[in-house]
Amino acid sequence: MIIVLQRNATQEQMDYIIERVKKLGLTPHVSRGVERTIIGVIGPEDILRVTPLEAFPGVEKVLPVLAPYRLVSREFKAESSIIELGKGVRIGDREIIVMAGPCAIENLEILREIALTIKEKGVRVLRGGAFKPRTSPYSFQGLGKKGLEYLKQVGDELGMVTVTEVMDPRDVELVAGYTDVLQIGARNMQNFNLLREVGATQKPILLKRGMSSTIKEWLMSAEYILSEGNFNVILCERGIRTFEDFTRNTLDVSAVPAVKQLSHLPVIVDPSHAAGKWNLISPLSKAAVAAGCDGLIIEVHTHPEEALSDGAQSLIPERFTKLMEELRVLVKAIDRDI
Ligand code: PEP
Ligand code: MN
Repeated sequence: MIIVLQRNATQEQMDYIIERVKKLGLTPHVSRGVERTIIGVIGPEDILRVTPLEAFPGVEKVLPVLAPYRLVSREFKAESSIIELGKGVRIGDREIIVMAGPCAIENLEILREIALTIKEKGVRVLRGGAFKPRTSPYSFQGLGKKGLEYLKQVGDELGMVTVTEVMDPRDVELVAGYTDVLQIGARNMQNFNLLREVGATQKPILLKRGMSSTIKEWLMSAEYILSEGNFNVILCERGIRTFEDFTRNTLDVSAVPAVKQLSHLPVIVDPSHAAGKWNLISPLSKAAVAAGCDGLIIEVHTHPEEALSDGAQSLIPERFTKLMEELRVLVKAIDRDI
């Protein structure tokens, strides 16, 4: 349920409404827009039927939220959310934020080498996995804590925002201590305990779409995080499973405008895990940008042939540079920056 306040509602009126809502055992979430302030109310709404909130001073109207994902929906917040990632980087505004780096952190030298090459091309967000969700238990599982230390060291040295995956609710505190942005991988999109745990932090959360999840399920997972009080969620489309097996997954480009319509949260695209092939990354990145995404996350490696994971989909610096140049031309046509 959404309580829309009158334009001239006073702070006292708002405080009074919030207090009454809390007394009813419901949770209010205030959203201040340019035009209006609205209070989203979460909890069993039947209680509100016997309390005529419309009659309270300062209230213009009370509306039901039709979407099952409430806090995430545009009904709850009409304006697009802009999320601060740290070090002056904000996502959800005009600028398309490119995140890049290796699939996995392999050692300090290679991470630094990759970070330097992408930073030179204007990238301000460095990705790299320390805890890797591998299909096989025999594949490289990531460097764990050591990897987190390398990521933080390189991020600090180069003044870059860092993003890395957390796989286990027990590791959230540890990983949050080393990185600016916490990534929830596709395989963990419905790990509800993990979602609640990252929801209890105020870190920006990059929530990947599960490989077999509908848009609705994905947004419900985001709702878990917001419902814990963390509104700093970035949604990431990374390809879904279809019958097509030429590509690793099928990039659902239509999810970008669909989610932008349904939700106020920023949406980014990961063409690397969608395609699984380096030679599809450039066209898919351009399609994603044209479709209205707020950012990209791309795997880059200086020696992909030796990479410990996902080498086949990683761009070498020369190809990444070319892509960045082409994107700079493209964004002008859609009145955005990069
Ligand atoms: C990754 O970003 O390296 C990764 C494992 O991605 P996903 O969870 O989308 O497969
Ligand atoms: Mn990868």
